[in-house]
Amino acid sequence: MRIRGIDFREVLLEREEEFVIATGTSKSALNFVARIETEDFCGLGSCCPSSVTGETSDSIRKDLQTLSGKLIGEDPTQIQKLNEKMASSHPESKCARACLDMALWDLVGKASGRPLYDILGGSRDRMMTDMSLGIMDFDKTLETAKRIVSRGFKAIKMKVGLDIDEDIARLLAVREEVPGDITLSADANQGYSYETAVEFVKRTKDLGLAYLEQPVAQHDHVSLMKLDELSMVPIMVDESFKTSQEAASILAGRTARLLNIKLLKCGGITESLVIESICAAFNGGTLVGCYSESALSIAAGLHFALSGSTIEFLDLDSHFTFPNDFAKDALGFESGLLIVSGRPGLGVEVDFDSLD
Ligand SMILES: [Mg+2]
Repeated sequence: MRIRGIDFREVLLEREEEFVIATGTSKSALNFVARIETEDFCGLGSCCPSSVTGETSDSIRKDLQTLSGKLIGEDPTQIQKLNEKMASSHPESKCARACLDMALWDLVGKASGRPLYDILGGSRDRMMTDMSLGIMDFDKTLETAKRIVSRGFKAIKMKVGLDIDEDIARLLAVREEVPGDITLSADANQGYSYETAVEFVKRTKDLGLAYLEQPVAQHDHVSLMKLDELSMVPIMVDESFKTSQEAASILAGRTARLLNIKLLKCGGITESLVIESICAAFNGGTLVGCYSESALSIAAGLHFALSGSTIEFLDLDSHFTFPNDFAKDALGFESGLLIVSGRPGLGVEVDFDSLD
């Protein structure tokens, strides 16, 4: 089996409402879709730009072209070798590489007739995801939290990090408003100083937060470690790592106990499997998260998550916010659980030729 062609499409996905976090506001996201073809099969992958990896629409467009040139004529089942080839020339192009890596896995799944989570050794087809609640005013926060619960979600991740008093007021009100079995967590996206983060964990100690994500700046490992020691709530890192080496260093140095793995941030399924193994070796826990992604790459994240032993949480929710998602029917959702389709590979059917 040889790769004989790779084609791309670009689709602008627009959110129903703008999404505000400590580092910025997003209303839409350009998603890139790749189709890798052999004589008998094709595999799909997708990605979007990320300020965390530093990739823009322009850089992704250019990198996808260059990287695909390295894959033409190769055997798509040799995913490890192909990843090494892509990483050696484009180490920083995490999103672009992830797009092609997931298309390779999709193709291999389709060629074997099995869903990807099954090939990766997973034994279940569904897992609970949270829904993120952006930074918004008090009344809108409560209204949105109620709407999230009414849609069936059992977990809410509150975005915080701009103003601690407002953050805590919103968290307390949501805790009061939603049923007690709804899990709450918080993500500050690097928005707090060490002192503010200490105040946050003290003032929220009775809220039963599942974790506090990236409270301080990504490189401030000393503050993260001190916070993790003093906080009852486990500290999760997201922006602090992209590579398996950085993940190992965080866990070995006891900077944090929990890692947020995102396929696009880490360069794809292949590299994320390495990070998940490292996490297992250090007895750490993980969440699988996402950027502003269509249901196609969200499905890839879910298949990956279903295969891992350390994955405690999912934050695979961006596709719920895009009414014009081209891969809308890729995943099921029941009682807070995100469900893969059961079809081979990623199990996502997309009318690729009609995308523009
Ligand atoms: Mg985060």
